[in-house]
Amino acid sequence: MAMNPYLAKLPALKMDSILETAQLAKADNHPQKIDVVVGAYRDGNAKPYILPSVLEAERRLLAQLAAGQRNKEYEPTEGFQPFCEAAVKLLYGSDLPPMDTIAKLAALSGTGAVRIAAAVFAATAPAGSTIYCSKETWPNHFPVARQSGFKNCVSYRYFEPKTKGLDYDGMMSDLAGAAPGSVVIVHGAGHNPTGVDLSTAQWDQFASIAKSKQWFVILDSAYQGYASGDLERDGYGARALARAKVFSASCQSFAKNMGLYGDRCGCVAFLAWDKAAATRVLNYAKAAVARPMYSSPPIIGYRIAHIVLTDPVLRPQWELELQAMSARIRRVRKILFDELQRLKTPGKWDHVVSQIGMFSYLGITTADVDALRLRYHIYMLPEGRVSMAGLNDESAVRFARALDDVLRNPQAKKQQPSKL
Ligand code: PMP
Repeated sequence: MAMNPYLAKLPALKMDSILETAQLAKADNHPQKIDVVVGAYRDGNAKPYILPSVLEAERRLLAQLAAGQRNKEYEPTEGFQPFCEAAVKLLYGSDLPPMDTIAKLAALSGTGAVRIAAAVFAATAPAGSTIYCSKETWPNHFPVARQSGFKNCVSYRYFEPKTKGLDYDGMMSDLAGAAPGSVVIVHGAGHNPTGVDLSTAQWDQFASIAKSKQWFVILDSAYQGYASGDLERDGYGARALARAKVFSASCQSFAKNMGLYGDRCGCVAFLAWDKAAATRVLNYAKAAVARPMYSSPPIIGYRIAHIVLTDPVLRPQWELELQAMSARIRRVRKILFDELQRLKTPGKWDHVVSQIGMFSYLGITTADVDALRLRYHIYMLPEGRVSMAGLNDESAVRFARALDDVLRNPQAKKQQPSKL
């Protein structure tokens, strides 16, 4: 049957590269496959991992449900507020502004939080304002910004390919012309995809410039606790913005640090610096953004996270589990690096250990990435981003050897069949 002509008017769009490559990887059943596409933690056997603290919290919730102590009726549009309070305490620590000057909503994980923040700032920013994002960023930032009403989406320099580190001067010079009321998106810690973050001094300087230039800052915090294993340290950027009293929105995701990916647990918190302003922002976010989009958030993930964050036994247990996860990632980074050194693989590889968090941006070409896939069943993003959490002690060595072969051997790039 011919396509309905109205439906045929829809542009034929593609999903972003992450989802597409993830599907390719899933379809490959080779026993030696290495899938380092999606930013999800895997255990040492490359299997999805449920944190024991999270499992215990969910068990308690189920027991409460069975005992008739809970039900499944709607949450208010702003979601379960005790969770939001625990979430902002985790992020801002001792620099937390007074609670009644913060507008907080439970959001559909990090994506939903960024979506609400962008929609509110699209309404507060002067007409025609620009939203800025690091060059190389999570591929959903600009689509979210556009759907939230921003027409001008501009990148600022961030990653320096030569040093495979941060181009802070380039970043600040690209932002120098950003008008008051512009929106700047920054990654809290464990920058996706580069694994390159601002230093504490750079955060302080960025925050004071953002304040003096009157930018709205969206702090996307998807990896707190993963970058360094230390929640406090990974919250430094958020706390610098709070100390400088920047009008900002933090967007927390508990997908990675609690493994609540599919439960869609996140929090958006606007630092409004005034009680009446916080109420105004909250009511706008509820009435103009959340209510017409999904009415009210789901129940379970926020309650799990609330128990884990506030229970005197589960909270320290979770912090230890988080440290173990981030330590495992650091260990496979080191194993990969050591093997590349041992093999004297062409190129410099210090960034494999200096970049932090879940991702490493290898700095290899798309042709190298293709060769790794075709020859070795290794799947990563076309721009050479590796989710380190997908490696283990054994596959990190295999990965290094495959990379060495592909970089040394031009034949490898001619779509040779797998050597495995
Ligand atoms: N922001 C960044 C920087 C991310 O890397 C991710 C996840 N990959 C997200 C937001 C959104 O994640 P989620 O919606 O699953 O919490």
